[in-house]
Amino acid sequence: MAGTKVCPYCGVPKEFSKENTWNSDGTITQTKNPDHRVLFYEAEGMNRMLANLEQLVGVLIDRIVIEGKRKSTYNYLQGMFSGIKLLIVKALLRRRVYETISARGAMLGYGHYELLDLKAGEFIKVFGRNIYSRTLFSGDIAAVFNLVEGIPAGLEFEEKDGGTVITVVPGEELEEEIATRLERKVLMPTPGDIAYDRCPKCGIPLEFKDYTWDLEAGTITDDNTGRRMAILGSEGIESVFRELEAELGEEISRTIIEAQRIYVVETLHLEEVQQHPDYLVRQLALRGMGNVVSFDISEGGIQATVENALPHLLVVGLLQGIFELFSGKGSDLSYDYNDRGTLTLNAKTR
Ligand SMILES: [Zn+2]
Repeated sequence: MAGTKVCPYCGVPKEFSKENTWNSDGTITQTKNPDHRVLFYEAEGMNRMLANLEQLVGVLIDRIVIEGKRKSTYNYLQGMFSGIKLLIVKALLRRRVYETISARGAMLGYGHYELLDLKAGEFIKVFGRNIYSRTLFSGDIAAVFNLVEGIPAGLEFEEKDGGTVITVVPGEELEEEIATRLERKVLMPTPGDIAYDRCPKCGIPLEFKDYTWDLEAGTITDDNTGRRMAILGSEGIESVFRELEAELGEEISRTIIEAQRIYVVETLHLEEVQQHPDYLVRQLALRGMGNVVSFDISEGGIQATVENALPHLLVVGLLQGIFELFSGKGSDLSYDYNDRGTLTLNAKTR
């Protein structure tokens, strides 16, 4: 992407380091909105977890996931473009807004997007390559359309030239019970003492020297694992989970944990989980998923406490999966997640 400045020391786009802050409490926050937490997470990990979930529940969940993501993105964008700003956008800058959003997406690892065509109030047509997650992206683009055009969105996809042409058109009106599912909870994080060696130029943790940005492709790759990463709003993922719970019932929490456990067992390597516990502490914190304050793993079981755990269901499934990889056996799980955001977890060999 032309014009993106990259840190001369660590190679990370400057805007990326400026916008996101890695804190000592295991969280990543948006520098300008510290109560908005984000995750730096495996894109494919999220997709695989959702695919596993769909298989476990046995019904298509795409529509529910898209709706959960749409609401959260809409809510977020509303904060960014409200009142007079939104009027200006609508009057003059539609194309600019769509283009700015796609340029930012490339830097955050969402893929490469081009605005192909646009007619106010009627449609937008976007070409995307390396789309980080078609389901989550569908929620995002529907939200952008809702905000800028002020109407519900319907989506059409067409595979073309090694990518996907996405057309957003006016969609069906949604029932408005939906707004009630948006209760965003902001937890005051519990302070922690994770220390990062930081880039002397831009301040991002030095671990980021091992990630490669391809700004043209819109990808971020972890050089150590080869996995693709992206910045995801944690509220977006929580909102997806809330939507699934509202549609499918409370027991979906257990199924989400199970979907995540399966992903971890299938994807992580034994060498990754056999490292010193510090490795896990750092990996979780780098992803913004919380601060592992106690961790005890043996052949028979795992006990862990994670402060500021988020999204806690994914942390639970991750730890259970790590234990099963480590022990080579199945496990029984119990956990508690309190209103301070502290997760305590116990899994024992079955
Ligand atoms: Zn740097």
